Amino acid sequence: KAKKQGRNAIQTFTHDINAKLTQRLMLRNDLQDAIKQEQFSLHYQPLIKHDGTIKGFEALLRWQHPAKGFISPGRFIPIAEQTGLIIALGQWVMEQAARDLLALSALLPSDCLISINLSPLQFHRANFLQVLADTLAATGLPASRLELELTEGVLMNDTEGAITRLHALRKMGVRVAIDDFGTGFSSLSYLRHLPVDTLKIDRSFITHLPENRKDTAVVSGIIDLAHHLELTVVAEGIETQEQHQALAALDCDVFQGYLLARPMPFTAVVDWLKSRKPLFADLT
Ligand code: C2E
Ligand code: MG
Ligand code: MG
Ligand code: MG
Repeated sequence: KAKKQGRNAIQTFTHDINAKLTQRLMLRNDLQDAIKQEQFSLHYQPLIKHDGTIKGFEALLRWQHPAKGFISPGRFIPIAEQTGLIIALGQWVMEQAARDLLALSALLPSDCLISINLSPLQFHRANFLQVLADTLAATGLPASRLELELTEGVLMNDTEGAITRLHALRKMGVRVAIDDFGTGFSSLSYLRHLPVDTLKIDRSFITHLPENRKDTAVVSGIIDLAHHLELTVVAEGIETQEQHQALAALDCDVFQGYLLARPMPFTAVVDWLKSRKPLFADLT
């Protein structure tokens, strides 16, 4: 009987793997057409400064599949990377986000940023800097209003090459953020050598603030470290008032999360900006 159960378990297991593989293959095919069919869109999530003003927006990719509905970037970005489609997709994101930010200019502070997630594949391409410069020129987005989000892993592998690139970006005036900071198991000493502007503390460290004293200690340490290195610190994934208050007390510079605003399609951003209460409304 034990043997039979074992065999059943294996069958279920291989069945699951096959189902997953088939799904991936289907998604892979669908992805090829999705750009042409305009199934992608961008949502924008506000980044809010300590004083309540808007620092910028993070552009987040959305795929509305004609049959399967909404598919999260966590599922399709890896496939887009494996197939190389991320290059075309990433380029589309860059152009669309730049245009959208400029279209919002009248409603925004003049130094408002657009923050874009960059795949390692984009960053490591030989023509990356040239393509980026061309895109800025074509869209008219000033380099100083673009921030590129890279994960620790990208900067840790091939640190030399990465540093050269980061210096070139800085020379262009483009800002760089380290995304999901703290999840990469990397040594902190590398941070000293990286010409970056911003650290984004991963949501996993924020979730249990302020009750979890160890998490609070880690976040406090990251914020101090960042400030000593003259970096801006962003906290991701703020969902509660308590988390927000704890982070403000720790002197975090920028806040991002559902509590402040969810990622929104362009039209909703316009409404959100128009309906935003004036700062410190109770004082005026
Ligand atoms: P990320 O860059 O770390 O983006 C933050 C993620 O946290 C987003 O998930 C956002 O919707 C979510 N988030 C924001 N606030 C909260 C909150 O308060 N609570 C919770 N639970 N989640 C929150 P999303 O949009 O599903 O994106 C997932 C990941 O996909 C991103 O993580 C990023 O790594 C990747 N991604 C998204 N758009 C792009 C893109 O255009 N290009 C590339 N290469 N990757 C992208
Ligand atoms: Mg990001
Ligand atoms: Mg992030
Ligand atoms: Mg994250």
